[in-house]
Amino acid sequence: MIAEMPRDEVAIQGGPLPEILLPTNCPGCGIALPVAELRAHNYVCTDCGHHFRLGADIWIPLIADQGSWIERWSDVRSHDLLNWTVPKSYQETVETLLEEGLNEAVRTGTCTLAKKPIWLAAFDFGFVGGTLSIVAGERLARGMEQAASTGTPYVLVSASGGARMQEGVLALMQLAKVNAAVGRMHDAGVPFFSVLTDPTFGGTAASLALLGDINIAEPGAAIGFTGPRVIKQATYADLPPGFQSAEFQLAHGQVDMVVQRTELRPLLAHLLEMYS
Ligand SMILES: [Zn+2]
Repeated sequence: MIAEMPRDEVAIQGGPLPEILLPTNCPGCGIALPVAELRAHNYVCTDCGHHFRLGADIWIPLIADQGSWIERWSDVRSHDLLNWTVPKSYQETVETLLEEGLNEAVRTGTCTLAKKPIWLAAFDFGFVGGTLSIVAGERLARGMEQAASTGTPYVLVSASGGARMQEGVLALMQLAKVNAAVGRMHDAGVPFFSVLTDPTFGGTAASLALLGDINIAEPGAAIGFTGPRVIKQATYADLPPGFQSAEFQLAHGQVDMVVQRTELRPLLAHLLEMYS
């Protein structure tokens, strides 16, 4: 449904705007930003360049050609296999998020970008911190396997806190599963472009998000495995300025480029042309 709406109408036709897109003060500079202005600039602050966090419902129409998005496996659902109740019921948490209109931490499907067919997957940090769950891993792996078998390039947009601890070892197994699927794309010669947004951490950063043929980060995005507070507590080290920022990771060879959101679509179109 989303792809059938005009690109700039998605947010206002999709029901209540996500909280972060309500008129608000920019987390970067504090300036008040009307929704219309944010939307017109791809949710980047016009004053300081802060890149707002976006859900999959916004990322998909930002990347896909209008009207081209076909979502796959949106009916795959999580189950509370561990009867997790601390600090609150996992099952109730998932059901509440589904009722609010979110559909798991990863949505995937096919679309075109600059008229070239791609597989696209977007994390949704609003769903249990964008954690890699059984459902998320299954959607990612199935899409990658189809991308490999059809020779279709794969684009990933990640924003994740890591593996979903409420699903225990079955969530951890998703790391190996999606990594194997990335390997199948590699063996098939299918290009994999990974876009890392704020924040990308834990098992997601340690697996597929940093396995792209090209790893592209958004300016200012926090990227790492364990957060700086935990590292500091464990090592008593003074962390360098800008630690774990996209720019820091670029300087240390963890990502290949840091790209403004307004330049992302043209860049991906260029890469698709180069790799085709
Ligand atoms: Zn700002």
